[in-house]
Amino acid sequence: MVITSETAHATSDKAIATYDAIIIGAGFGGLYALHHLRDQMGLSVRSFDGASDVGGTWWYNRYPGARVDAPSSPFYGYTFSQELVDEWVWPETQSKQSDVLAYIEHVADKFDLRKDIQFDTFVTDARYDEDTQHWTIETDSGERATARFLVCAIGALFVANKPDYPGIDDFAGDIHHTGRWPHEPVSFEGKRVAVIGTGSSGVQVVPEIAKTADHLTVLQRTPQYALPARNKPLAEEELDQYRKDWSELRASMRKRGGWPFRTSKLAPADHTFDERQERYEEMWERGGMHMAINSFTGVYTDEDLNEEISEFVRSKIRATVNDPETADKLMPSYPFGTKRLILDNGYFETFNRDNVALVDLRENPIEEFTKTGVRTTDGEHPIDILVLATGFDAVSGSMLKLNPKGRGGVPLKEKWAERFDNNLGMTIAGYPNLFMIHGPGSPGVFFTMPLGAELQTAWIESCLRHLDDANLGSMETTEEAEANWDAEVTGIANRTLYPRADSWYMGANIPGKPRQFLGHLIGSRYFDRLTEVAEAGFPDFTFEDRR
Ligand code: NAP
Repeated sequence: MVITSETAHATSDKAIATYDAIIIGAGFGGLYALHHLRDQMGLSVRSFDGASDVGGTWWYNRYPGARVDAPSSPFYGYTFSQELVDEWVWPETQSKQSDVLAYIEHVADKFDLRKDIQFDTFVTDARYDEDTQHWTIETDSGERATARFLVCAIGALFVANKPDYPGIDDFAGDIHHTGRWPHEPVSFEGKRVAVIGTGSSGVQVVPEIAKTADHLTVLQRTPQYALPARNKPLAEEELDQYRKDWSELRASMRKRGGWPFRTSKLAPADHTFDERQERYEEMWERGGMHMAINSFTGVYTDEDLNEEISEFVRSKIRATVNDPETADKLMPSYPFGTKRLILDNGYFETFNRDNVALVDLRENPIEEFTKTGVRTTDGEHPIDILVLATGFDAVSGSMLKLNPKGRGGVPLKEKWAERFDNNLGMTIAGYPNLFMIHGPGSPGVFFTMPLGAELQTAWIESCLRHLDDANLGSMETTEEAEANWDAEVTGIANRTLYPRADSWYMGANIPGKPRQFLGHLIGSRYFDRLTEVAEAGFPDFTFEDRR
């Protein structure tokens, strides 16, 4: 690779450090990009992260109960290094946050990544200069740096959604958002606590808070389906088998939507109602995501099958929750799985405790917060601590917060005012040489994030090599390609039941956010497409000679 790395670039005021690539983010995506671009390609790279250390979402989301809620920990790690796979011991199938963070820290040590990352530094601005074909970033300390390539690995779930209920700022107790959890322990001992939000984070944090709080009020807007996680220790022999089979498993993950598991080939119509119920029961006992991927074909597309599974899960909630009135409030009605599936560790059982109450915000909305509590239409709930498990302005939110200025100084907020137009979930017309990892329209959370980042970074390499081989200075996708990509991503989603739910997948959790399906649902097809585009010489892109 002959991309040259200058060291300092004189400007009108002071010398600005110049790199081949600047990476924003030191989570799973950004760390891999740093390793790949720096160590595999020999580029000069500088990374920035607002956090004080590596880990991204796993650095921030350290609320009690936070753990992997995906099929199995060994597949929620990087796949590229056999040595890393061999040496790491995942303790549980759904490892807890501190174990995932320890893994990411180990990766940072092993590949000596921290020396090129500037922590505690938020990138507050990024501008493309058409004359120099460079991006210049500015940080919250006023520092600037410039690079030919800007890689935004800034997190699909980063910008915390904080509801602005009347009076919330006057509440005198502590307020903690699950996505910005303090590093010092938070004690709930003897406290009256309210949790708003019953998504993945709420379902994980609620049972933990209930264990020690004097009283817990769960303020629920939408009841959720949650499947038993059935977390268990991972035996050394099982890990050894994975290590031995790793290259086949990795290939299989790439082919099968991120996880090396076969999905069910059973057609529901070939089975009687009773046989199907038996199968649901088996999947329930196996726990994890089995109900969704292993019961029958068509869970996300076949309305009747989906409703039958939805009803099965509702019956499990009814059987678990002692008080029928509370159980009624916990009944979800949207199609199963069309909001992010939740794995639970005793969530529904928590409502059988004497110190836990459920408020259905659809019946009794929040009117206001006071100094000492929250008032819903059914009365005042005195609280000492408020926990916001209210999620994120997902996928597009962090790019909009960065708000890079592309050609002609156009801010992304202007370009994305109505739709999050981009091509391949990675490139944006008008923003040359900028690459997103896990951007809108890429598989993101519908695939395994670490492997997804590895594959997307490999594609970035092919872009950079293409430029270098032909002595080109910039590449940029076209608006026509963006429209086609939007049609493809939306078209796939529209063939499923996903758009029926008001989920963050649809942007429906943030008031005023454009409603648009935010992920590519067929990871294997997506990554094939990346390869095809590169092999065809990037037909949907325009190029400029290097200046
Ligand atoms: P979420 O799924 O968006 O859930 C947010 C919850 O807050 C929902 O119940 C939502 O209700 C509620 N809410 C939002 N605004 C509200 C308001 N103004 N008033 C009342 N309720 C409000 O967020 P999350 O639970 O943080 O999870 C986000 C994603 O992070 C997950 O889907 C998952 O992909 C990931 N995650 C992963 C793990 C893991 O262990 N791997 C753990 C946690 C999260 P509505 O449903 O009505 O919008």
